[in-house]
Amino acid sequence: MTALMPAPGESSRRLALIHTGGTIASGPNPDGSGVLPRQAPQLPGMTDVVVSEYQPFNLPSPHITPAHMRRLATLVGEVAPGVDGVVITHGTDTLEETAFFLHLTLNSSVPVILTGSMRHAAEVSWDGPGNLLDAAQVALCPESRGRGPLVVFGGDIFDARTVTKVHTSSVDAFGGYPGPIGRIDRVGDSPRVHYFARPETRPTYQLAGSDARVEILYAYAGWTGEGFAEAAARADGLVIAALGTGNLPAELLPLIARSRRPVVIATRTHAGPILPVYGYAGGGATLVEAGAIPASFLNAHKARLLLLVLLSLDYGPQQIREVFQQGAF
Ligand code: ASP
Repeated sequence: MTALMPAPGESSRRLALIHTGGTIASGPNPDGSGVLPRQAPQLPGMTDVVVSEYQPFNLPSPHITPAHMRRLATLVGEVAPGVDGVVITHGTDTLEETAFFLHLTLNSSVPVILTGSMRHAAEVSWDGPGNLLDAAQVALCPESRGRGPLVVFGGDIFDARTVTKVHTSSVDAFGGYPGPIGRIDRVGDSPRVHYFARPETRPTYQLAGSDARVEILYAYAGWTGEGFAEAAARADGLVIAALGTGNLPAELLPLIARSRRPVVIATRTHAGPILPVYGYAGGGATLVEAGAIPASFLNAHKARLLLLVLLSLDYGPQQIREVFQQGAF
């Protein structure tokens, strides 16, 4: 599916541009103490578009919490009905988490596109303007409607469920299995947006109550469960970034079997599903038998957000298991 954008002046399209900070809004601190969010980036060269700008906060993305994501979801819910597209600029470090939170909680067919940059405005290789222009043009493309929040970076268009940051410094910082769902390129000044798949229907979750506390534990060779009891005592739910298809050292099996909190098993491997294959103590089949919930294809930090949303809605263990099992996200 390829969509050509209307020529400049053909229509008065409306775009909401929401700035939240990150490298795309950053520059060096004059006192020499490092780079930090300073000034929101300007949208280059879209004179035919009516742009309304918002800045709910101006943060480096390691400072973003689920409470900020909620604020953002509320703001997008308010502005989306009045515009043709929404762009959110965001730090790249937690961009995929905010994208997935919005994916879970926003019920709107208006395109919502997140982007950022890996280089700041004072660097010769600043990738901010290009990414911002790409994001705006994807947001205003009719083919982007009904796809849920998307991430646009380096010309690639990613689904919020699968996108992940794959490099700490390259401008091609985003990827994730099975890869982009679309691409934006330009011929001369004309943008061309191409999607490789059709939009799909998906459930969304209307947030209520306050955020549940969900913690992530990271598995490694020789882990005997250090930190598990402490995390289970203070959290409402746990996610484990487990090994391979969702396996753990034998010592974790009784801890999970006794846990009164839901325990979701994701993988620390970079791609692929959780499968209940192995029957040795701690193998995936034994963990599921002991009550653990497989995270499907979600990485640990996205599984955490889904569990957090479901627990905030008072979902019980069986309902949580069904959401993960049926891929209802
Ligand atoms: N390195 C980050 C970025 O690219 C900083 C942040 O996430 O705020 O935006």
